[in-house]
Amino acid sequence: MSRAHDFKLALTRVIEPTRGPGAELVTLEDAARFVGLMKPWRQARPHWDFAAELLLTAAETREESDIEMATAQMERALRVEGVVVMPREGAIIFRDLVGELDVLRIECDKCGRKGQYRVDHLIEQYGLDAKLFDWEPEADCPRKQAKNLNDICGARCPDLSKVV
Ligand SMILES: [Zn+2]
Repeated sequence: MSRAHDFKLALTRVIEPTRGPGAELVTLEDAARFVGLMKPWRQARPHWDFAAELLLTAAETREESDIEMATAQMERALRVEGVVVMPREGAIIFRDLVGELDVLRIECDKCGRKGQYRVDHLIEQYGLDAKLFDWEPEADCPRKQAKNLNDICGARCPDLSKVV
């Protein structure tokens, strides 16, 4: 490794792949090694190729913005492969509901609507690691569809407080 490159720098965020070689990725070196240990056919995929290039750039410039770009690309690439849970910033993901709820109920007092969705169907459709509120439970509410900001829909999921 050239002295011009500093691979000991920490990534902007620790990345925890759910499978693959090694555990957490903390430094540029961890990430570079992770990419380096892949099978060549996988490594040659554009998202990994780009990640490797950004890691190299970050190690060279040591700029925070370059490190952030490399970190984000690693996360993106891992997500493409389904290997990492994206940082969820406190958001509820469907994985949290597994084993807890079979059915997700939606109630909207304002629209007078009650609906329910099977959790396994939602997961099939959106994926285990999708954020719950990327899916719009209130999508079927007339007020939601009207998009009138003066009269917004009040849909909520009454069961969620028991789960999280
Ligand atoms: Zn509503």
